[in-house]
Amino acid sequence: MEKTAETKFLQQEQATIASMTRLFCKAKHNTQTSLCEDCQDLLAYAQERVARCLFLPDKPVCARCPVHCYQAPYRERVREVMRYAGPRLMFKDPIAVVRHFRMMMRADSVQVARLRAKMAKK
Ligand SMILES: [Zn+2]
Repeated sequence: MEKTAETKFLQQEQATIASMTRLFCKAKHNTQTSLCEDCQDLLAYAQERVARCLFLPDKPVCARCPVHCYQAPYRERVREVMRYAGPRLMFKDPIAVVRHFRMMMRADSVQVARLRAKMAKK
């Protein structure tokens, strides 16, 4: 796939992570326009992880990925954000939610399938 599709996908993913973190921080940490320091840190980390994902642009949803690239404390915090913001994103950005479900239903890309098979053998 050409570079532009990858860039576009990456930007969409990063924007979605940002709006989910904003929803979460606003509700849980009572922030208004900007994120609290912790959430800023988490968002920067998550956006960097996506940017470095091995499987772009055909990445699986993170929950189904054979590679767990998040460090433990961030992994927990991101899951907390997703758990809170996921259902609420439906009202804020339904297109992002549809995109996520389509990613979830999609078959593994060749790269992902290969790695998954390799890991299953161990
Ligand atoms: Zn926060």
